[in-house]
Amino acid sequence: MRFQRPAVFLNKGMLAGAGVLLALLLLLLAGVAPQNSTPAYVQRVSLAARAAGERYARPVSGTAGAPLIVIDAGHGGADPGAVGGDGIMEKTVVLELANTLRRTLLEQGGVRVVMTRDDDRFIPLAERTAIARAMDADLFISIHADSGGDEQNAAGASIYTLSAQASGRQAERFAQRENSADVVNGIALATGNNTVDTILFEMSQRRALTEAAEFARLIIRESEGQLRFRDPPRRSAALAVLTAPDVPSILFEVGFVTNPQEAARMTSREGREQFARVTAAAVRSFLANRAPRSPADLG
Ligand SMILES: [Zn+2]
Repeated sequence: MRFQRPAVFLNKGMLAGAGVLLALLLLLLAGVAPQNSTPAYVQRVSLAARAAGERYARPVSGTAGAPLIVIDAGHGGADPGAVGGDGIMEKTVVLELANTLRRTLLEQGGVRVVMTRDDDRFIPLAERTAIARAMDADLFISIHADSGGDEQNAAGASIYTLSAQASGRQAERFAQRENSADVVNGIALATGNNTVDTILFEMSQRRALTEAAEFARLIIRESEGQLRFRDPPRRSAALAVLTAPDVPSILFEVGFVTNPQEAARMTSREGREQFARVTAAAVRSFLANRAPRSPADLG
C-alpha cells in the first residue's frame, strides 16, 4: 500500500535519531555527570569514615534507618573537667545531662542515638570526633559545664561552634582549657590547632559549619524563656572536639558548675529534663529543616 513505505522510512529515521540521542546521553553520563554530581571531597570523606568504622563503632539505639545523633558527655575518668566549690565535677554533671537527653530523644522517636561514653571513662578528644565520623552521624552534640574560675557569679549557658578564630578572649581561654583535656599525666593525646586550620580549608567542612551554626541558632530559639544564656549566647573557638569535617558539631555549655544555683539546677531532675526538652526540640527542628543530603552522603 502507499502508506507502508513512508511509515517504514519514518520508523528508521526515528530509530536513527533515537540512536544518536542515546549515544549522546551515554557520553554525558560517562563523562560529565559523575564529576558534577560527586565532588571529590565527598568520596574522600566517606572513605576515611569507613576505614575508621570498626574501631570506633558504638551501640546504636532508636528507630532503624533514622538520622543518627551522637551525644558526647565531656571529660570523664582521670579528667574531671571543671570542679565546683563543693567538689561537684563537670564529668559527672554532663554524663547525667547526656543520659537524660538520650532518653528524651529516644522517647520522641525518629532518631538513632549513640553515646561516646555512658560511664566514667576517659576518651581522647580525637576519638570522640572519630566515633561521630565512623558512625556516619548527622549531628554531634558535646555536652559540657563551665568554670567561672574566681568568678562565683559567672552564669548562663553558651553554644560553641568551630572556628580557627576565637570569638573573644574568654572563648580563647575556654578553648585552651577544653583542648588541654587531653593532657593527662603530661602526655598530649590530641591534635592541636593545626588540625583546625587544615580542616577549615576543606570544602567538606563548609556545609558542616553552616549546619552547626543553624543547630546552635535553633537551640537558642528553643531555649527562650527556659534556659538562661550568656551574652553573646553563641561563640566560636578552635575546639579539637568539633573538628569532624563532615558532621555538624556543637559544644553546649549548659551552665557553670562553679555557680551554686546553676550547679543545683543542672543536677536536679527538673533542670536536666528542661535541658533535654530544649535540646531535643532543636534536634527535631534541625532534622525537619535540613536540606536533603546528596546520594553520595547517604551511601
Ligand atoms: Zn568541659
